[in-house]
Amino acid sequence: MAQADKPLVYPATQGADVLHTVAPPTVLTIAGSDPSGGAGIQADLATIAAFGCHGAAAITALTVQDTRNVQGFRVIGAGELRDQAAAVLADIPVAAVKVGMLGSVDNARAVADLLAGHPDIPAVVDPVLVAAGGGGLAEEDLAEVLQGTLFPRATVVTPNHDEAIRLTGGETVPEAIADELLRDGAHYILLKGGHRNEDAEIVTDRLFSFGQEEANFSHPRLPDRGYHGSGCTLSTAIACALADGREIVEAVRTGIDFTHRALRAAYVPGRGQAVPNRLFHWRNWEAED
Ligand code: PLP
Repeated sequence: MAQADKPLVYPATQGADVLHTVAPPTVLTIAGSDPSGGAGIQADLATIAAFGCHGAAAITALTVQDTRNVQGFRVIGAGELRDQAAAVLADIPVAAVKVGMLGSVDNARAVADLLAGHPDIPAVVDPVLVAAGGGGLAEEDLAEVLQGTLFPRATVVTPNHDEAIRLTGGETVPEAIADELLRDGAHYILLKGGHRNEDAEIVTDRLFSFGQEEANFSHPRLPDRGYHGSGCTLSTAIACALADGREIVEAVRTGIDFTHRALRAAYVPGRGQAVPNRLFHWRNWEAED
């Protein structure tokens, strides 16, 4: 079977009675808590579970939010964050790391330092700055330091259009954004197309390495229901595919395909945005469309 046709989920998630005698790959997410369950650590662990991987989680911040917007957040101290992640890394052979909301410059530096000691673990970095509802999720100066701290250690960075503009101080041309963000050492950057050309019927995500476009991935634009947690789902799904040993283009394709399916099966649990259904394969949601 071609790699792209392989099932997205591990067999263990398709039958209830499969016991693992060999541990599945561990994916460590370093991200903030979203009590609504739509984004952050909660979204990441659901995604990791959908792939049949083992989820480990180090919490960077506690947010207060519902499915409409963020009311506030409190950042966990950098020392405590480092201790959480270091405890996992010392004990479990982590197959991939996903980094989401960091909240503070100190947390970005702590995670960069820690990952520098584990150069062989692939790391997907989602530079979370603002929630889908518009609420801030980072200290003012975080955008300026990510490039010099965490990006050099990233296998792939996954900004959306607005984050890419903020990270580059206003650049809007995709090739120029990519080169600017790849300059300090990240291997790949995935420029997500969802917030770009919002009238276009096709969404194209573009994967760049320095100086060239490696691949692009297109799918039909879904109705704009306002989604909460789609970036978290995508970055974590890519980490799961890397943990499974897939090479980068295939891992990104797998992550995008998974996220598109989760978005097609999205539901509205509260009074606000829709939440991607990362466990879409537990019911034949797509058949019910
Ligand atoms: N991380 C946390 C803790 C969040 O609360 C949010 C959004 O609310 C995000 C990340 C980013 O979410 P999205 O995947 O919608 O970009």
